[in-house]
Amino acid sequence: MTRRNLIPLGLAAPAFLLFAQGNNDWDTPFPPHKVAGNVYYVGSQGLASYLVTTPQGHILINSSFERTVPLIRKSVEGLGFKFTDIKILLTSHAHGDHAEGTALIKELTAAKIMVMQGDEGIIESGGQGDFQYTNKDWKPCKVDQVLKDGEQVKLGGATLTARHTPGHTRGCTTWTMKVRDEGKELLAVIVGSPNVNPGYQLVNNAKYPAIADDYAKSFQIWKSLEADIFLGAHGNYYGMLEKVEKLKKGGAGNPFIDPDGYRSYIAEREQAYLATLAKQKQAAGSK
Ligand SMILES: [Zn+2]
Repeated sequence: MTRRNLIPLGLAAPAFLLFAQGNNDWDTPFPPHKVAGNVYYVGSQGLASYLVTTPQGHILINSSFERTVPLIRKSVEGLGFKFTDIKILLTSHAHGDHAEGTALIKELTAAKIMVMQGDEGIIESGGQGDFQYTNKDWKPCKVDQVLKDGEQVKLGGATLTARHTPGHTRGCTTWTMKVRDEGKELLAVIVGSPNVNPGYQLVNNAKYPAIADDYAKSFQIWKSLEADIFLGAHGNYYGMLEKVEKLKKGGAGNPFIDPDGYRSYIAEREQAYLATLAKQKQAAGSK
């Protein structure tokens, strides 16, 4: 979830508004496209989903909202792949805009549902138990496998590594994967979310006491990753629209290969986190 499209619970917005007021590009269809090697973008304009294809079936990352699933299906089929060949569903983090459609994907494909520890309860209860938001009306979905930091997910020659990067949610996950593209081996990194949403309490958070430490640890992980291909839970993390424009114009090089963009995004997000933390510490101290 991006920072600007959420209403903190404290403002008591009606539940139906929580996700209805999202970015207006969340429901905008977007042309599916190849990122590199066997990694494809199959999300809406504002909600990133990725398909990793293999000869033994495919891995989908992010179901998005339940209402997004038909759009993802269309994108997968538009690329010439079978939606029912999806064998594994992974998630960036258990907020509605990335995970509400989990049960529907399971129903349509019988994919194995793998979720990072800390987020599994939200998926299994149908959106309950987030420290910040109440999510209503998700269909609960059984989690087939709970993942730990560093655990690998393998299918048909593809290996994804789950990095536990909590803070944004307790089980926020950054996916990494080696991709072969035009003879080169590249590290793709799908950032789970480094964002401190409006209303997030980094200091004295009774529901999530370790939140600030978790963000700090996650930034260490993000800074340690030598990303070649920079991706994320929303396209706006990595300038998806501009990069797709570059792709359309042709020219040399793959625009998604952007190690500098990755580093500067993480550095900027860390500064934003530190600034919010300092402000909240000061406010707590002056009470
Ligand atoms: Zn989110």
